[in-house]
Amino acid sequence: MTANQSTALYIHIPFCRLKCSYCDFNTYAGMDALIPIYVDAICDEIRHYQGDSEIYIETIFFGGGTPSLLSSELLAKIFTSINRTFKLQSDLEITLEANPGTLTKPYLDSLISLGFNRISIGAQSAITDELQLLDRLHTFNHVIESFKYATSAGFHQINLDLLYGLPNQTESSWQDTLSQVVDLRPQHLSLYALSLENGTPMLARASSGTIPTPDQDTVTNMYEHAETFLALHNYTQYEVCNWTKTSNYHECQHNLRYWLNLPYIGIGAGAHSWYKQHRYTNTKLPYHYIQRINSNPDKHPLATHPGTQATIQSTLIDDETEMNETMMLGLHLLVNGVSYRDFEKRFGTKLEHQYKRTLSHLEDKGLIQIGSTNVRLTSSGRLLANRVFSEFV
Ligand code: SF4
Repeated sequence: MTANQSTALYIHIPFCRLKCSYCDFNTYAGMDALIPIYVDAICDEIRHYQGDSEIYIETIFFGGGTPSLLSSELLAKIFTSINRTFKLQSDLEITLEANPGTLTKPYLDSLISLGFNRISIGAQSAITDELQLLDRLHTFNHVIESFKYATSAGFHQINLDLLYGLPNQTESSWQDTLSQVVDLRPQHLSLYALSLENGTPMLARASSGTIPTPDQDTVTNMYEHAETFLALHNYTQYEVCNWTKTSNYHECQHNLRYWLNLPYIGIGAGAHSWYKQHRYTNTKLPYHYIQRINSNPDKHPLATHPGTQATIQSTLIDDETEMNETMMLGLHLLVNGVSYRDFEKRFGTKLEHQYKRTLSHLEDKGLIQIGSTNVRLTSSGRLLANRVFSEFV
């Protein structure tokens, strides 16, 4: 990355009211007492970048966990550090992930005053039984309420996250969720297939037969149904799991940067960064993170630059790996795909030559479409996206 190149900023808030049964994210319940000193550590970690040449921030994303557990005063404290450390682009996108039931109108008003202009609400389902099975604390009425508060506070960019492929979920209940969600007319939707992860209570229950595991055909039908239904309701699918309203077309700029394999700086426990040709990772546990940030720098000298005292692992990315990652990430983008021109400009080599055999193999299988300006997934490729991506690992 050259001086003055823009980057994204991700801030991880690893606290939740309750750990959901399916969740394997780096997040913890019952640690709220740590929040104020965790925020202080975040501010210190941000200040670590003060020594770098000018860094222009294009997007800021508060993810978690449940960032909406932070009071507006604590969020303001983080913004003070951000403003003192980085240059901010004028059309900055600032997103907060939030859980329904944690949002009030005054809180949303304060977010707007702080500069937030995008909110991502973890709706997951409109069906009460499904939300309970996931151990979610909210009902769909909370989603409706949060959505209305956010709209009246002035948020134009509102995303709703949904999950499909849940135990006991039927194609009909999924249809019901989609219908109720579309009635709210959110600007953006993210749809994820539930993945049963090691170490989660939900996997243990599925393995013991207490709850049925959804079969792959049903999950595929749900995805295909969503594609058709959302297209009918004027949503454009621009990424494997993401849709924007066609009439108010606006991709999530922060995630778009990930798919374009552009730099980002991750702050907080377990946060990942892709910056100055390195991918590096912070220590995961909030308490360890706070300890490392507060410790004497001599105790945790940086293994490499870039990184901070919280960094525990760092890898220098060579050109070939960066090219592969650019292909794998860029193919997530269904409208833009990977552009030949951008690839050649970035790497000084032609995509068509670099991946000649792989592209021809995937095209023969009907999984990608090789166009005149870009290469992208076909509709069959979307269903087998992970198989396509694995060709570039
Ligand atoms: S609210 Fe989200 S981050 Fe928190 S435990 Fe549930 S799924 Fe995980």
